Amino acid sequence: MTLPNKTGHFGEFGGRFVPETLIAALDELEKNFKKLKSDKKFKEELHFYLTEYAGRPTNLYFAKRLSRHFKKLKVYLKREDMLHTGAHKINNTVGQILVAKHMGKTRIIAETGAGQHGVATATVAALFGLKCRVYMGTEDIERQALNVYRMKLLGAEVFPVHAGSRTLKDAMNEAIRDWVTNVRDTFYVIGSVAGPHPYPFMVREFQSVIGREARRQILAKEKKLPDYLVACVGGGSNAMGLFHAFFNDKKVKMIGVEAAGLGINTKHHSATLTQGSIGVLHGSKSGLLQDNDGQVEIAHSIAAGLDYPGVGPEHAYYKSIGRAQYVSINDKEALKALRLLSELEGIIPALESSHAISYLEKLARKVKSRSLVIVCLSGRGDKDMAQLKI
Ligand SMILES: *Cc1c(COP(=O)(O)O)cnc(C)c1O
Repeated sequence: MTLPNKTGHFGEFGGRFVPETLIAALDELEKNFKKLKSDKKFKEELHFYLTEYAGRPTNLYFAKRLSRHFKKLKVYLKREDMLHTGAHKINNTVGQILVAKHMGKTRIIAETGAGQHGVATATVAALFGLKCRVYMGTEDIERQALNVYRMKLLGAEVFPVHAGSRTLKDAMNEAIRDWVTNVRDTFYVIGSVAGPHPYPFMVREFQSVIGREARRQILAKEKKLPDYLVACVGGGSNAMGLFHAFFNDKKVKMIGVEAAGLGINTKHHSATLTQGSIGVLHGSKSGLLQDNDGQVEIAHSIAAGLDYPGVGPEHAYYKSIGRAQYVSINDKEALKALRLLSELEGIIPALESSHAISYLEKLARKVKSRSLVIVCLSGRGDKDMAQLKI
């Protein structure tokens, strides 16, 4: 069975909860994407930009000193941090900009949290000479100043959002509002496996290059499949990108690491699947942090890219069928892991990716025998240096 089904559902999750004015636009997008996805010329074009421009394939790097540190784990890092613009986000924006171009759209909008998706979108908009506006919460504008500067340099307009928690959720609300108003000429580039159908499906397809490469690479290097896949989960695109190609490899265990922020027993975390309940946000049904009245709660994480109260519907589905397990790592633990990887391997990971690295310590204590692990190193940490105050 391949998912999503015809109505864009993964089990009970996903779907399309949007104003009526967007239904036709989503239908049009779905039709175009499905056609292009198997079009030979489109595939060649996508391959060209992923390899020549973005820097694929990324290395699957054996982290020797990190593995020695954890003793019972043999750890490989999928180096998405080596990509142009510094994170996995470019896999998706390259794909979506090509779809936009084929659909004849002239204006690009996006939402951004950490600013990584905003930068990745501004980058490809510049590459194709399209007008670009990026919605960003003012809280994030402050803590990710470097990325704001990059987006502006790339010719994008960074539109500040003062509403709500002034983070990713609010930026996405504004972007959806813009799209409703300007749907004829505007293409909305969503940055994760979230949003109404076909976005979770489309973004998964563009990101699943991560797992397809990793599967091939680990088989070449180790002659066997890994025991564990570990990836951080904000909206869930780097994790789904890694997981998807292994879905039918039943022995490969998948672990999604959410942000526990100041602690899952406080109100300041982003652990949607481990602590939330089922609800609707940004056009799809999935896990959600909400209060007893169904009001969306404010998420928190030291990693701006994980600071989101929702999660992609396919993850909610993987959790519901037991295909993946979801855990959480707090701010302090993530910071510790950032230093650990920097000191042991000379690789400074993004704060987001540091959550996945941190979970290895808990995993090492849990495994019975020496285990083979692939961690998705979703991005590099340069953008976070100002926040570390070292
Ligand atoms: C945006 C981002 C994430 C979180 O987004 P997902 O859709 O969950 O992958 C993780 N790591 C980095 C480096 C990011 O920029």
